[in-house]
Amino acid sequence: MAGESQADCLFCKIVAGDVPATVVRESETTLAFRDINPQAPTHVLVIPKAHYPDAASLAAGAPELAADVLREAGEVAAQEKIAAEEGVPSKGYRIVFNTGAGAGQTVWHAHAHVLGGRGLNWPPG
Ligand code: AMP
Ligand code: ZN
Repeated sequence: MAGESQADCLFCKIVAGDVPATVVRESETTLAFRDINPQAPTHVLVIPKAHYPDAASLAAGAPELAADVLREAGEVAAQEKIAAEEGVPSKGYRIVFNTGAGAGQTVWHAHAHVLGGRGLNWPPG
């Protein structure tokens, strides 16, 4: 059932503490930890503790939880000092939800990538 922990899900195992992760923030409903294969100087994943397979099913099934994830992504950016600053052109960050295998999704538990600390090309590859 949507929202319930899945025994075969890597990120559910991280939430349960069965797989280690470098946690940078935690709230009642979310967890933020460093990506094991970082694509930028700051690369943090923000996940709902409850299991939803992707961002769209999270937003449809638990809109307040989707908002929690987005708010925590912003808090991670502030904490990591990558948030936009007036007069500092190199600052700013990207929140990415890869959705579907063709878009690069490999873990089927919704997660926001928070990327920053370097120039970010647009459009992304
Ligand atoms: P995606 O490809 O968008 O589904 O993102 C999954 C992300 O999870 C990738 O960027 C992986 O590097 C990352 N990842 C996989 N296993 C772990 C892990 N054990 N701890 C932290 N990040 C992980
Ligand atoms: Zn899961």
